Amino acid sequence: GPAHDAGATAGRAAPVYQDPAQPVPARVADLLGRMTLEDKLGQLAQVDRAALTSPQDIAAYRIGSVLSGGGSAPADNSPTGWADMYDGFQSAAQATPLGIPIIYGIDAVHGHNNVRGATIFPHNIGLGATRDAGLVQAVGRATAEEVAGTGIDWTFAPCVCVARDDRWGRTYESFGEQAEIPTAMTSIIGGLQGGDLGGPTSILATAKHYVGDGGTSGGRDQGNTEISEAELRAVHLPPFQAAISQGVGSIMVSFSSWNGQKLHSHGRLLTDLLKGELGFTGFVVSDWAGIDQIDGQRGFTGAEIATAINSGIDMVMVPTDYRQFLQLLRNEVDASRIPIERIDDANRRILTKKFELGLFERRFTDRALTPTVGNQAHRDLARDAVRRSQVLLKNEGKVLPLAKGGGKIFVAGKSADDIGLQSGGWTISWQGSAGNITPGTTILQGIRKTVGSGATVTYNRDGTGIDSSYRAAIAVVGETPYAEGQGDRTGAMGLDSADLRVLSRLRASGVPVIVVLVSGRPLDIAAQVGGWAALVAAWLPGTEGQGVADVLFGDYNPSAKLPMTWMRNVAQQPINAGDGKPALFPYGFGLSYAGRPTSPPAQTAAPAQTTPPAKTTPPAPRPPAQTTRPPQATPPAPTTRPPAPTTQAAATTQTVGTALCTFRYAVSNQWQDGFVAEMKVTAGAAPVSGWTARFEFAGDQAITNAWNATVTQSGTQVSATN
Ligand code: BGC
Repeated sequence: GPAHDAGATAGRAAPVYQDPAQPVPARVADLLGRMTLEDKLGQLAQVDRAALTSPQDIAAYRIGSVLSGGGSAPADNSPTGWADMYDGFQSAAQATPLGIPIIYGIDAVHGHNNVRGATIFPHNIGLGATRDAGLVQAVGRATAEEVAGTGIDWTFAPCVCVARDDRWGRTYESFGEQAEIPTAMTSIIGGLQGGDLGGPTSILATAKHYVGDGGTSGGRDQGNTEISEAELRAVHLPPFQAAISQGVGSIMVSFSSWNGQKLHSHGRLLTDLLKGELGFTGFVVSDWAGIDQIDGQRGFTGAEIATAINSGIDMVMVPTDYRQFLQLLRNEVDASRIPIERIDDANRRILTKKFELGLFERRFTDRALTPTVGNQAHRDLARDAVRRSQVLLKNEGKVLPLAKGGGKIFVAGKSADDIGLQSGGWTISWQGSAGNITPGTTILQGIRKTVGSGATVTYNRDGTGIDSSYRAAIAVVGETPYAEGQGDRTGAMGLDSADLRVLSRLRASGVPVIVVLVSGRPLDIAAQVGGWAALVAAWLPGTEGQGVADVLFGDYNPSAKLPMTWMRNVAQQPINAGDGKPALFPYGFGLSYAGRPTSPPAQTAAPAQTTPPAKTTPPAPRPPAQTTRPPQATPPAPTTRPPAPTTQAAATTQTVGTALCTFRYAVSNQWQDGFVAEMKVTAGAAPVSGWTARFEFAGDQAITNAWNATVTQSGTQVSATN
């Protein structure tokens, strides 16, 4: 039989599947024709590295994929340690008649975050705040270079969830609460996969978790998304469509259910919608023991395996009991409860990606790439991403930017000098942890580097020792690390009591308090924010804390905008733009330093290497946010509420563009600063002068309003008068 032809024998041409000059479909067909049933079933199994009794089991059980679940690291957690481990697994896989390489997967979700010494980028919520698709593509490229430097082929990223409820412990893995941001940020896939997957530092990307993971009731991790199909398609599906058009190689199934049915058993969504209607040709991987949840009982059964695979799952993240899994899978196939055509289809999908990645040709780590892990170019890119992700939410009396020279600055708070806290979950370990867990620059170190010898910086974590001789107090406070369901909140979402104590000590000094909030999501701060002079949402910036200092001291004029609506209190959850609830800060809000030059455009190419073109045109990013506030004459304090909307015949207007617009609004006859809204510029039927614009306020319910105004446009600045 053909299986005996495996491997090149002396005097005979190499088999088609081993010939890189042959087209991938021909190589796949040739290989499939040589594989035994055992070979084929093994390709469907993904095993956690820690569960492998010995690397030799990869060959013995024909295992197709190994992963580092929750980032589980080898004993030597250095780039070289990882590469050695990877190479060991690949040599084990080589010891089969066909020598099919494994594909190794890891959660490199904000840089190669499990590896000590790697560059840690901001978590997705911060990247979403940049709204900069080019920057995020460059982040993907740099991440792929570091992952490839350790041999690894595949990342379980990006998470393209649309997080609708901030109580969810995975909110920070979301680029934003509206589909538009995660959709635009799928540009990261082009960076990770390096275009066509074939480059020396191309790695396979995963869009996850399909679908509706961010829409569960109560924001419960792995919960139930109870929404209509129309809402599922409008809110949660667009990022997956964009990921497919970016050529994403794999898609991970969500643990969650849709209206009571587990996604891991949802044939209509996995096969009919994803592979049929959306035309996804890559492979579908289950989540960690996700098939075990189909029947609600612990562990997996043959019936669950059959349901999962027949529903459209191609690879099962088993992840531990691989012997039993393969035995039960075999039983299901022998009993024809899983058609062999389905097994072949799954193999075709998986093997196609292995060939496209070049795994049959470059099986072992290219050690020349290993020094890219944590290199300066990547750290510079990460610092740039950090500063572009800082959202300036309040700046009373223009206390920011701080002058670098003169006087004394007081820094306090647990998150000021802690790489672990500023990196959050999914850093070195699954849940992350406080402390000096990997090299980097803390926010405090960034502040010290930025001011140099120009000012005296005193740090006292608990805020004691401050007095009125200081000109500013910077409090760096916020959340401690968590991942997945361990970050779910059912009660309060405010600052912890230690943070509150620090803040009240600083306030008591009378020195203006600048709060830098290190958190994976908006927190309940409404009761305190009035006492703060300035507030910066720093998200979870990662190892390059100097990007935060760049904003505080004006080396960068803040440009980021909120990717999530900021609640006034937890009872408002879920709160999202357009739902009419009065926010503390609306979606899209973010201040800049007035009268300062616009910050330079984001870097759109990876620094070390050129960015290969994305496979397909990325979805159009949002228009760049205005980084300078439009000049405004001080209007008289209003005496009445804005006039009711004047209606204009919709049929006679046409949208000609959008712009982010900063302007002032009034509450109780007091002008407030810096409200930002997206403005649709429409050409009216008979404009009196220029264009007309429609403003939609999604802020305080008391002022929620919409009306038309005339607009004059000069350059990129748009100003409006009502
Ligand atoms: C998470 C996935 C992750 C996987 C492997 C699961 O618990 O839901 O996002 O990719 O673990 O670590």
